Amino acid sequence: MEKYDNIDELTGLYNLNGILSHLQGHETRAAEGSIVIIYLNVMNFKSFNQRYGFVGGNEFLRGLAGEIKGLFPEELIARTAGDQFIILANSLDEKEITDRLTMLSEASARHDKGLRLHIKAGIYQQTGDETDPVIMVDRAKIACDDIIRVYDKSINFYDEALSKKNELRQYVIDNFESAFKNRYFKVYYQKEVRALTGKVCGYEALARWQDPVIGIISPLVFIEVLEDVHLIHKLDLCIIDMVCKDLRDDINSGYAVEPVSVNLSQLDFELCDIMAEIDKCRDRYDIPVELLHIEVTESALTTGADFLDQQIKKFRQAGYEIWMDDFGSGYSSLNNLKTFDIDVLKIDMDFLRTFDTNKKTPVILAMIVNMAKELGIHTLAEGVETKEQYEFLRRIGCEKLQGYLFGKPTPVDDFNRAVDCSFDVCEDFSLASYYDRIGEVNFLGNTPLRDKSFEIFNNLPLAIIELQDDIAQCIYANRAYLDYLSSLGFASLSEANSIYGTTNHPDIVEFTACLKRAQVSPDHRAYADIVTNGNTVNHKIRFLFDSGNRQAFAVVSRNTSIHEESDTAESLRVAMAHVFNQYFRVDFFDEDGTVDNIFLNADQKSVSDYTRDAKEAVRLYSEMYIYPEDKERFKKFYDITTVRDRIENTKSAYVVDYYRSATPGDNGRMQMYMILPFYYNGKWKFISLCRYADEIRDDDLK
Ligand code: C2E
Ligand code: CA
Ligand code: CA
Repeated sequence: MEKYDNIDELTGLYNLNGILSHLQGHETRAAEGSIVIIYLNVMNFKSFNQRYGFVGGNEFLRGLAGEIKGLFPEELIARTAGDQFIILANSLDEKEITDRLTMLSEASARHDKGLRLHIKAGIYQQTGDETDPVIMVDRAKIACDDIIRVYDKSINFYDEALSKKNELRQYVIDNFESAFKNRYFKVYYQKEVRALTGKVCGYEALARWQDPVIGIISPLVFIEVLEDVHLIHKLDLCIIDMVCKDLRDDINSGYAVEPVSVNLSQLDFELCDIMAEIDKCRDRYDIPVELLHIEVTESALTTGADFLDQQIKKFRQAGYEIWMDDFGSGYSSLNNLKTFDIDVLKIDMDFLRTFDTNKKTPVILAMIVNMAKELGIHTLAEGVETKEQYEFLRRIGCEKLQGYLFGKPTPVDDFNRAVDCSFDVCEDFSLASYYDRIGEVNFLGNTPLRDKSFEIFNNLPLAIIELQDDIAQCIYANRAYLDYLSSLGFASLSEANSIYGTTNHPDIVEFTACLKRAQVSPDHRAYADIVTNGNTVNHKIRFLFDSGNRQAFAVVSRNTSIHEESDTAESLRVAMAHVFNQYFRVDFFDEDGTVDNIFLNADQKSVSDYTRDAKEAVRLYSEMYIYPEDKERFKKFYDITTVRDRIENTKSAYVVDYYRSATPGDNGRMQMYMILPFYYNGKWKFISLCRYADEIRDDDLK
């Protein structure tokens, strides 16, 4: 019955004409329930066509048409354009529609050759009074278009909110030209804050349309429209021009000047020579390149990678910082970090929205910061709204923060320069690169003090050891563990395995016993210091799993005999002993009036055995060991309470004097006594050093 021009040749379904004439029929036909229109759009079909040619593309469309027919057997179906379909149904409820569309998306995978072509669906349910079928189809399409950029949504019902949004969108389409003409576009600035200092270290410029009729229109509405009509670069350059003008005012004001990051759309790069245009803006107001950062969204980066990569390189060579916006949202890819050289990652605010409710979120955030730092990229977290989020981000080393906690986007007229741009509130821009360098330290890494080396391995000596019928074999060893083995004298892992696997070596017997202890211990852990080949080795063991006669363990082993820190400590101890050995005694006075003997190499008593009271100890000592004529002078010299005053007068770091010895056999031999004060843990302490004057070489005291 159908006329030939109502049928789509490729699929045998109706075409647009066909479905519209049916809709008109419905309207006159009586109430069979309300009409539902489902509008389907295949995403990425173009790239499928490019890859498999038109023949392959047509095959997919025919296949998909078959699946739709199978799932909607009672309904009227049309293909209205290349990859768009319309289903006309009667009285299907939302659940039924959703179920069938979910099945359709699975069925379509049978035809897409693994390319995963997503199908987006917009649904319009008739509410009663519509008469124009074109409007009904249009609304289904509007619902579908609304989610094209929303990566995790594939089904969308037309509702009141969407209707409002669509009206606004239409208003924007009808009025953007006059908005440009009448300068309705304004810049709002949102603070960016340095996590370490809490000071403002920059602003992001965000566009607003201040409409005399509607009020403020969000960029979320008009950016998309301006992109559709290819005028987005006009807006972005208009914003950048205003930013440069404001920056010039700031510079002239003498208050703090902070860099501003501006948003570019992917299309800007295609619609004009965007860098040349931005340079012109800067030139107009004489703004240094360091004060303007370029934000590019991550989704922009994924398409046309080569071209964009060139553009980004050009910007960076000219001295601009490139910031990757919305990192981790949508179809994001870690690959972007490899492809593009960027300066700052802006971590999408979606992460922080689930900070309190999802315990995985903090881990993911920490890992992003960790990864960025290992790659030498700075980080900024967007959407910070609570103190807890601030504290956490600061702790993991995220460098910059932005969000309502610090301030909403604000027009420039609402800023009070004397307060908002004072150096109490704002960072001195000359310190920015200093703080950026601090920000490069990875607090989360295991080698935070090392230079960036793209070293990805843990520096703890880690091995996986398997026990099979009580024979231990190492089945994994990281590089640090191989170093550890070599410190024990093993040339390789296989050498260690063969010695330990075949002999009843006493070291391995003890080690195996320790593994078994870990297996049976309630927390599956065990620790042991085992002397191996003359070295003390500290093992930390965790039992992992067992299966039959096998048990697996993770082991961290450290040869503490060669460990660098203990080496240094030991050297220091030996060196101190030698230094002390230059004196026959060393005592330690405290400002609270006590004394301890810490080194004694003479035929004397320590005295502090009898009393720890400094005054009494000095008296006793002088009685026993100081020549009678020198005693009074000696006691005065050892009045610790006056030492610092006396030093004040000499301008040297210590006081020194000479007294004759009354120690039997010394025959009045001359001795040098020296008191050296130092400040420690909030208190003054004094080292007293004694030696024979005839053992001092002249240059010792210089
Ligand atoms: P965006 O670049 O990711 O900007 C951040 C958006 O998050 C801003 O919305 C900002 O007001 C909002 N925001 C900031 N802190 C918080 C917070 O703590 N909580 C919450 N819930 N939101 C916060 P806005 O100004 O509506 O801008 C929306 C998007 O429009 C921007 O996202 C950007 O992609 C785009 N855009 C804005 N201005 C321009 C422009 O001049 N040119 C271009 N091409 N795009 C722009
Ligand atoms: Ca941005
Ligand atoms: Ca963003």
